[in-house]
Amino acid sequence: MTPMNRRILLASRPQGAVAPDNFKIEQVPLAPLAEGQFRVRNHYLSVDPYMRGRMNDVKSYAEPLALGDVMTGGTVGEVVESKHGGFAVGDKVTGVFGWQDYGTSDGAGVRKIDDTLVPATAYLGVAGMPGVTAWYGLNKIIAPRAGQTVVVSAASGAVGSVVGQLAKLAGCRAVGIAGGAEKCRYVVEALGFDACVDYKAGNLYRDLKAATPNGVDGYFENVGGEVFDATLARMNPFGRIALCGMIAGYDGQPVPLKQPSIILTMRLLVQGFIVTEHLALWPEALGTLVALVAQKKLRYRESIVEGLERAPEALMGLLQGKNFGKQIVKIA
Ligand code: NDP
Repeated sequence: MTPMNRRILLASRPQGAVAPDNFKIEQVPLAPLAEGQFRVRNHYLSVDPYMRGRMNDVKSYAEPLALGDVMTGGTVGEVVESKHGGFAVGDKVTGVFGWQDYGTSDGAGVRKIDDTLVPATAYLGVAGMPGVTAWYGLNKIIAPRAGQTVVVSAASGAVGSVVGQLAKLAGCRAVGIAGGAEKCRYVVEALGFDACVDYKAGNLYRDLKAATPNGVDGYFENVGGEVFDATLARMNPFGRIALCGMIAGYDGQPVPLKQPSIILTMRLLVQGFIVTEHLALWPEALGTLVALVAQKKLRYRESIVEGLERAPEALMGLLQGKNFGKQIVKIA
C-alpha cells in the first residue's frame, strides 16, 4: 500500500483573528523519492508567531503563503528513506518541512542534530531559530555592557526567555514584561531575571519604573503597543532597541506609538531585524546556545500539544498568549 502523508493547508485568509476554518487537513499518497532526495518523518513541529504573517497576502520580508499551500513551519524528525549521499536513514534532522507528517528534501536548509546533547525539541526553541533570534538581537543590536539594564517583552516565551538569561550571563540587570502573575513568577524564579512586570496587572508604567530604577539601556521588543510605549518612556540616552516582533498587531490591530519623539530626545538606536537574514552567524549562535543548554545555564519551558490536527489550535492559542514557553506540536 502507498504510504500516506497528512498535511494541513492554508484554506482561507484570516479576517482578524485566526479561525479553524482558515485551515484544511488532507491526506495524500507520498510520491517516490528522486535520486538525491531523502524523506523525513516529522516528529515535532514548531509553532511561531511569524506564521500569522504568512497567512496574509501583504507585502512583507517574506512571500505570503498561497491558498492551498502547506502551512510553513520548522520541524525536527528522522530520515526514514534516502537516495542522498549526505543523509542516511536514522539521521535526526531539523528543517522547514511544514505542517505535515513527512517532508522530502534535497538537503537544502536541513541540518543534522545531536539529540544526545540536548533534547530534539530544544532545536525548535532555545537551541533553534528563536534562540538565535534572542542571541542576535541582544548581542548584535543591543550589545549591552555589564551593569546595564535590559528589558524584554513576551519574556516567558521562546525568544524572550533566552534574551533575559543571556543578558544576565553578560552581567546585566534583566527585566521581563509578561502577561500574568504565573508567567512573571516563572521568569524571576526559574529563569533568574531580576524582575518581571505583569502588563495585565493594570499599572504597567508604574511597575516598570519601579523595576528599572536606573532606566533602560537596551530594549528587546516583541510585542508593540502599550508595552512599547511604556518602555520607550524609560529609555536612557543613547539606548538601543532591537525591534524583533510586534505580536500585539499581528491580527491587524493598530499598534500606534504614542511618543515617537522620545527616539529623538533620547538619541535612541532602533533596529528591526529578521533572523533568517543572518544565516552566517547561526553556527556561532547555535554552538553557544547548545553548550549553555547542555551546561544547564540556559533554562527553557515548552507547551507541547499532541497531534498534527491540533496545530491550528496551537497557533490560535499562541496568538492569544495561551502558550507558556516554546509552543510545539508533537506529530509522531
Ligand atoms: P512566544 O513564545 O513569546 O509566544 C508569544 C507570546 O506573545 C505569548 O505567549 C504572549 O505572552 C505574547 N502575546 C501574544 N499576544 C499578545 C498581545 N496581543 N499583546 C501582548 N503580548 C502578546 O513567541 P516567540 O518567542 O516565538 O516570539 C516572540 C516575538 O519574536 C514575536 O513577536 C515574534 O514575531 C518575534 N520573532 C521575530 C523574529 C525575527 O527574526 N525578527 C524571529 C522569531 C520571533 P504574554 O502572555 O506574556 O503576553
